Amino acid sequence: MASASERQYWLSVYKRKGRSGLKRLVKGALVYQAGTLKQEDVLINQETGVIEAAAQSLSTDMADETIEAEGKLLAPGFIDVHIHLREPGGEHKETVRSGTKAAAAGGFTTVCAMPNTNPVPDSAETLKEVQSSLKDAFVHVHHYGSLTKSLKGEALTDMESLKNGGICAFTDDGVGIQQAGLMKEAMKRAAALGLPVAAHCEDNSLVNGGVMHEGKQAEALGLPGISSSAESVHIARDVLLAEETGAHYHVCHVSTKESVRIIRDAKKAGIHVTAEVTPHHLLLTEEDIPGDDPLYKMNPPLRSSSDRLALVEGLLDGTIDFIATDHAPHATEEKRGSMRNTPFGIIGLETAFPLLYTFFVKNNQLPLTKLIDWMSAAPAGIFQLKNGGIKTGERADLVLIDIEKPRTVIPQEIQSASSNTPFFGWELSGWPEKTFCSGRLVWDRKERE
Ligand SMILES: [Zn+2]
Repeated sequence: MASASERQYWLSVYKRKGRSGLKRLVKGALVYQAGTLKQEDVLINQETGVIEAAAQSLSTDMADETIEAEGKLLAPGFIDVHIHLREPGGEHKETVRSGTKAAAAGGFTTVCAMPNTNPVPDSAETLKEVQSSLKDAFVHVHHYGSLTKSLKGEALTDMESLKNGGICAFTDDGVGIQQAGLMKEAMKRAAALGLPVAAHCEDNSLVNGGVMHEGKQAEALGLPGISSSAESVHIARDVLLAEETGAHYHVCHVSTKESVRIIRDAKKAGIHVTAEVTPHHLLLTEEDIPGDDPLYKMNPPLRSSSDRLALVEGLLDGTIDFIATDHAPHATEEKRGSMRNTPFGIIGLETAFPLLYTFFVKNNQLPLTKLIDWMSAAPAGIFQLKNGGIKTGERADLVLIDIEKPRTVIPQEIQSASSNTPFFGWELSGWPEKTFCSGRLVWDRKERE
């Protein structure tokens, strides 16, 4: 149940939503524009949903409200092409409402939802059913259509009717496509339809009931391991199929150095392959797993430190194209117990930018402008999603970030309906303070204090 203060907060959001014509001036922020940062004023029109003006100095007379933002960062709203919303069918873990609220709190204004819902969007009818829950969304949501019926990996869906229903791409995320012949046929059809095939790469014959990375930590904890080849074997197979079919093959959540190497070579060979990496694989390794703790259980698992370094290197040299969270909510009771019998996955929307900003940008390992690009323009370009950047006339999808003030990740501030994260207690900087989606203020951290 929402607390009284939370109800009050959302009431105020709704009141503002209703006030048409409201104009807000974000004054003096460091504004990201096409790879550079400069101090500018940005005028947001809530009624039209667009940026009315962006210039060095705009008069406060133009606005109903001025947000003093000196020293803060104004970035394009982030885009996450890999999240699990759980609605319909898994509302005890997350709903469209709670998931997109978490997205807004993390600075995301566009998300793409994976098809492992109930029903699975595997036909025009079930896609419509899944899309019907979107009236509750705080940010823009796109859906994937599944590659195979009921994600069973047996029969392909009517991919054309899914495309006509408005999906962003095809995937069976959560499970790997085991049959090479089926994957080839899927790629052929996707290529003809001009949509990407996003692949969760996992060869079941190499998983062996593993729950974490096959390595010294799994051995020490006495837990079954998942080999690196369980992932990379599929990628090696699929880049060859992509070459043969001409499909756009997108690799979800890359986690091993071998995968990075195969993707790098495939790109060099001119094969149409793109790839994403999660914040947790960039930050954590098997050595960070404190024991048999399900909050560190995700698929693919946290790998070795040489894998982690290869992922950072891959991102920097363009082998990996962008960042996606793989936000995967599970209820508290489901994540209690042993890694052996709890589900894979952690939430990620709310901590993605603060984690990467704190541990990579502040430590001078990754440039801030690149991080923003990997979380906005890069995924938008590859998945052909709208992201016009911060300039006059563009859709006002924006996030204002306090890059100075550190905050500790605590359960009370989590907006997702689930709290399965290993990052509680971590002190991070770079928290989204206000998020605007089509000009509407959908997240305002200050008002919650
Ligand atoms: Zn996956």
